[in-house]
Amino acid sequence: MKIAILSRNRKLYSTRRLIEAAEKRGHEVRVIDILRCYMNIASNKPMVYFKGEALEGFDAVIPRIGASVTFYGAAVLRQFEMMGVYPVNESVALNRSRDKLRSLQLLSRKGIGLPVTGFANKPDDVKEVIKLVGGAPVVIKLLEGTQGIGVVLAETQKAAESVMEGFMGLKANILVQEFIKEAGGADIRCFVVGGKVVAAMKRQGAPGEFRSNLHRGGSASLVRLTPEERSTAVRSAQIMGLNVAGVDLLRSNHGAVVMEVNSSPGLEGIEHASGKDVADLIIQFIENQAKPGKTATKGKG
Ligand code: ADP
Repeated sequence: MKIAILSRNRKLYSTRRLIEAAEKRGHEVRVIDILRCYMNIASNKPMVYFKGEALEGFDAVIPRIGASVTFYGAAVLRQFEMMGVYPVNESVALNRSRDKLRSLQLLSRKGIGLPVTGFANKPDDVKEVIKLVGGAPVVIKLLEGTQGIGVVLAETQKAAESVMEGFMGLKANILVQEFIKEAGGADIRCFVVGGKVVAAMKRQGAPGEFRSNLHRGGSASLVRLTPEERSTAVRSAQIMGLNVAGVDLLRSNHGAVVMEVNSSPGLEGIEHASGKDVADLIIQFIENQAKPGKTATKGKG
């Protein structure tokens, strides 16, 4: 097969591993910098071009699109879908997962356990929305944040109010969430491929840190999932419409709650912690799925 990886940098661990795994299984791989792609939307034969060359003949496309380039990346991916190339994750699902609030709304509609979450637009409503999620301590999150940046623990009502008012004053979109203290600064990353959890790890924040992000000094270790956690992860990926997903769970005293569903989950932490060849499993999934024109939406949405 001829596989395109949409990535800005072929040296990134995840991109490198996907190239390696695909080549090992006898496929031809090309890494494409999405920001250097241009397209003809007007013509009836949709195409993607790269430095004067038409990108044709691909069987599958693996999007590895960073949060900061979601808009253009999703447009390029959609164009490949319109050309009948099989996307490992579709553009619609990618866009859905990049909007934290929309994701939580979709998951809650299907009864997935979530931290109680509130959202408000005006400082006048701050007191009420904090009350709504059970009062301090609460976690306040910037909707546009990644890697734990813009995630704040407010221990008291007063602190919560002033942080929320501060963010609102900067015109930032935020949500406020019950603080799952019993998670003890740890979360669980479940790596889902094709409706199965293929690997999982526990990430523990550095001492004194409630955020477990590896980028914030957290450490990863192998974890055994309960059947409930496994099915929550699989259902969450399915609700989001993602074939490949990183589902982040917190262990709360009301069961596993989903914090986030990531559509371009990194391979480095999970492969090291679990010892699994996750890249190979993704390529195997593509081999079983990629048929020309098998794009569920054909670029709609
Ligand atoms: P990001 O997408 O920026 O990583 P997250 O929402 O995943 O933001 O939050 C970062 C980290 O903060 C999580 O990995 C988790 O350890 C911690 N955290 C987030 N929300 C909560 C919460 N409601 N209760 C307890 N810890 C939380």
